[in-house]
Amino acid sequence: MAKIKINKDKCKGCYLCIVNCPNGLIKVSGELNIRGVKPAVFSGGKCTGCGMCALVCPDCGIVIYK
Ligand code: SF4
Ligand code: SF4
Repeated sequence: MAKIKINKDKCKGCYLCIVNCPNGLIKVSGELNIRGVKPAVFSGGKCTGCGMCALVCPDCGIVIYK
């Protein structure tokens, strides 16, 4: 199973990754990052490593591990 790592302090809170994950594996954090927004966080689960989240992130803040 694949997993992703989101650089929380790069995240600007656009949530494109959340909308585009076909498996609904990314959610909004309850805490603010250094940019003052609630970053996206990987919630775990059955990540296929499809790469959609990393592809749509405008700040290149997501890395996929297969
Ligand atoms: S797409 Fe990138 S910048 Fe937008 S919420 Fe997801 S991790 Fe943050
Ligand atoms: S790689 Fe695909 S399945 Fe895994 S979190 Fe990103 S969009 Fe979702």
